[in-house]
Amino acid sequence: MSGAKQLIILQLYPNEMNIYGDRGNVLALTRRAEWHGFIPEIIYHHPGKPFPAQVDLIVGGGGQDSGQEKVQDDLLRISTNLHALANSGVPMVMVCGLYQLFGHFFKTQDDTTIQGIGIFDAETHGGPTRMIGNIILDTPFGEVIGYENHSGQTFLGENTKPFGKVMKGAGNNGKDGREGAVYKNVYGTYLHGSLLPKNPVFADELIKHAAINKYGEFNPVTIDDSLAERARAITRSRPR
Ligand code: GLN
Repeated sequence: MSGAKQLIILQLYPNEMNIYGDRGNVLALTRRAEWHGFIPEIIYHHPGKPFPAQVDLIVGGGGQDSGQEKVQDDLLRISTNLHALANSGVPMVMVCGLYQLFGHFFKTQDDTTIQGIGIFDAETHGGPTRMIGNIILDTPFGEVIGYENHSGQTFLGENTKPFGKVMKGAGNNGKDGREGAVYKNVYGTYLHGSLLPKNPVFADELIKHAAINKYGEFNPVTIDDSLAERARAITRSRPR
């Protein structure tokens, strides 16, 4: 396509941190970026590898506690790169396990502390009960729908904004009605689903920031999201 512009989408730790369909987030961003006239390029970051020099959008998924332990050292190693990109407004979405590690730490139920990189002022403590099921949020991007499955309970620092308000489900900790965290254009959330195929408005928000950062503008096309709408309606109608 003539005049099409490249967008580089980086997935962090696709082997260790990628469950409950989290890869669908990368696929949704790729396809929607194409529809909006970009040439998406997907790249991956694996433990021990050099961090890529050029990145426009970053995606990370969830994992078992053991997967989180496997990536911990590498995440700390690339922390400076991630902080610099976050501070310069690069959009990122971190789901569940990596959301937890974008906070200060995740202390598991067996008392192991997995150090995080503190992009979010948040901490997570493993709890005795898993919070599992469909979840619906009220967010600045409208109703966001997904599926959560975590034992970690996340608590946000005083000045940290949540991603949304829990309308149905547990959210960060099952207690304070908040879900996820936001820092600049970095979003942390417990929502699998996959999240982005089911929430096109939010997917386009991430693409918008990546496009504006790189090209100074975003001219979205109208996309037929009727399939996503059906998936949303089905989730909405299901019991938790
Ligand atoms: N292991 C973490 C927890 O149980 C994260 C789980 C996940 O990523 N789904 O809280």
